[in-house]
Amino acid sequence: MASGGCLCGAVRFRVEAELRDPIACHCKQCRQQSGHFFSAVPAPKTALHFERDDGLRWYRHTDTAMRGFCGECGSSLFWRGDEGPGVMVAMGALDDTGDMKLCGHYWVDFMGDYYDIDDGLPHHEGLTT
Ligand SMILES: [Zn+2]
Ligand SMILES: [Zn+2]
Repeated sequence: MASGGCLCGAVRFRVEAELRDPIACHCKQCRQQSGHFFSAVPAPKTALHFERDDGLRWYRHTDTAMRGFCGECGSSLFWRGDEGPGVMVAMGALDDTGDMKLCGHYWVDFMGDYYDIDDGLPHHEGLTT
């Protein structure tokens, strides 16, 4: 269970599921849309409920996925593939991250060359190990 929202409050949601640990995605699209790498936690699409969504916009950035953000304040909020049961929820949007801890880095072959990753967590090229 978790709740969250955007910077201005025009998007408020709750996730009615037990959340596992978040990942960091270093792909160019995540970096471009979020401003840096994108830390997010997977949740079932059916577990995501909106208390307020008048600011919510979905941008289709590929043929197979969309990114959710607030059209009022610009907060990066979600990544959602058309296929599959999950939606990625931005860690920065959550009110309380409890004891969740980042568990791995993905698409590191596309990470920016302006930073290092030295936290000892596993690195993955692409989305799989
Ligand atoms: Zn907003
Ligand atoms: Zn990404």
